Amino acid sequence: MVDVAVVGSGPNGLAAAVTMARAGLSVQLFEAADSVGGGTRTAELTLPGFRHDVCAAVHPMALASPFFRAFELGRRIELLVPEISYGHPLDGGRAGIAHRSLDRTVEGLGADGRAWRTLMEPLLRRLDGVIDFTQGSLLRLPRDPAAVVNYGLRTLLQGTPAWNMGFAGDVAPAMLTGVGAHAIGRLPSLATSGAGLLLGVLAHAGGWPVPRGGSQAIAAAMADDLTAHGGRIELAHRVDSVAELRSATGAKAVICDTTPRALAAMASDQLPERYMRQLESFRYGAGVCKVDFALSGPVPWTAEELRQAPTLHLGGTRAAIAFAEKEVLAGRHPENPYVLAVQAGVVDGSRAPAGQHTFWAYTHVPAGSTRDCTEDIIRAVEKHAPGFRELILASSTQTARDVGAYNANYIGGDISSGAVTLPQLIRRPVLSPDPWRTPAAGLYLGSASTPPGPAVHGMAGWLAARSALKNTFGLPAPELGLQA
Ligand SMILES: Cc1cc2nc3c(=O)[nH]c(=O)nc-3n(C[C@H](O)[C@H](O)[C@H](O)COP(=O)(O)OP(=O)(O)OC[C@H]3O[C@@H](n4cnc5c(N)ncnc54)[C@H](O)[C@@H]3O)c2cc1C
Repeated sequence: MVDVAVVGSGPNGLAAAVTMARAGLSVQLFEAADSVGGGTRTAELTLPGFRHDVCAAVHPMALASPFFRAFELGRRIELLVPEISYGHPLDGGRAGIAHRSLDRTVEGLGADGRAWRTLMEPLLRRLDGVIDFTQGSLLRLPRDPAAVVNYGLRTLLQGTPAWNMGFAGDVAPAMLTGVGAHAIGRLPSLATSGAGLLLGVLAHAGGWPVPRGGSQAIAAAMADDLTAHGGRIELAHRVDSVAELRSATGAKAVICDTTPRALAAMASDQLPERYMRQLESFRYGAGVCKVDFALSGPVPWTAEELRQAPTLHLGGTRAAIAFAEKEVLAGRHPENPYVLAVQAGVVDGSRAPAGQHTFWAYTHVPAGSTRDCTEDIIRAVEKHAPGFRELILASSTQTARDVGAYNANYIGGDISSGAVTLPQLIRRPVLSPDPWRTPAAGLYLGSASTPPGPAVHGMAGWLAARSALKNTFGLPAPELGLQA
């Protein structure tokens, strides 16, 4: 018998479990798969010795997330921070380069450097305020209203058809669009520009790190802390009913790292009709097709600087990417898709045998698509790195349908666990200053389907756990650091 049961071991489920265990409660975590981690697993998907991130690969939020800061993630695992946060190849061997140094980035952008500085510098100066505002429920008083004004005005400008105002060339706008497209949505829109600006400013702050050895290191650090504080982990155990879970474990609090759809299915007998309707009306977004490559050598990018950039955005100009994303939302596979790629070997030699490399890439596709996009991705890379195809030793593809089958939280291949639109950022999945608390006593939802939304930050789980500590146990939030 335990105090707390957690369903799902993604970064949010683990963050919730760690927080509850650190508060002195007994915790049992149930995971449907046969390993912990959800979207932060690493595996030999292609050939022996090639370690691929199955889902998340690059972690701007790992250094910025208030949960991971409190947890001191940076002292528990090695986060390799590159000098170049991301690169964006364009026609004619050109490339946009976001250095960690804002000054170097501005210098590289020539005539548009000033506009880039005007966009980023005020956000960089008030970064803590921007993080505070974006990493919780949007329905609460921000700690730094000036940061919110700066962030809000820039989100408005970049999220409307006036988004090119102030830029003369095509490089800086393409770079901003490549980052905003991480959110998988309409371009321009307030949701994609808000997400893009946050990731964009982090590129010039802590940077865009990759963990040594792969993203599994993040999950392992949390799982180790959980077990060190008495928590138990049960793998290969899918939870189908919250009532059965409660009677089997005696848990006073249940925290679900699941989608609203799964919560509704597991707890329909405990939740009021109105809340159930809200869970059922939550919308899921487009999917991704993910391809991992084992390469015999580094990617021969025409633009030399791209060879030092772990993260790359392919798809061309701002207009081209916006068009490709529009096609996806209309249910079509674009001819020239947006591709997000990571060559972790640039900073982490442990991912492949000496001299060889892994290459991680995905492209957006309509929800539930069964299209194998391997060829589309190879063509997109070949355009800017002729000879890429000859380096391929093996590849492994997950269609959007496979992504959904791999993890129940990615419905139809939606890696955000719910469409990222402005209404769904405010109402995720309900309009409340405490959206992690459900109307059923002791039942909480703490996944990417709750604020602050997708990405590996652990914040949703941490905030759900804090709500459970306060509302179910009357306990304060515990210290999470190494010395605590
Ligand atoms: C291909 C891909 C690439 C990505 N790239 C990045 C990236 O580079 N950077 C980044 O920050 N983010 C990235 N993401 C997004 C990121 O992985 C997710 O936002 C994040 O993992 C969400 O965390 P979570 O804890 O909410 O859920 P998940 O990590 O999805 O974990 C949910 C867990 O719950 C389990 N579960 C669900 N239902 C049940 C049940 N009924 N019983 C028991 N267990 C259950 C699942 O098996 C899973 O293990 C990517 C995702 C994918 C799929």
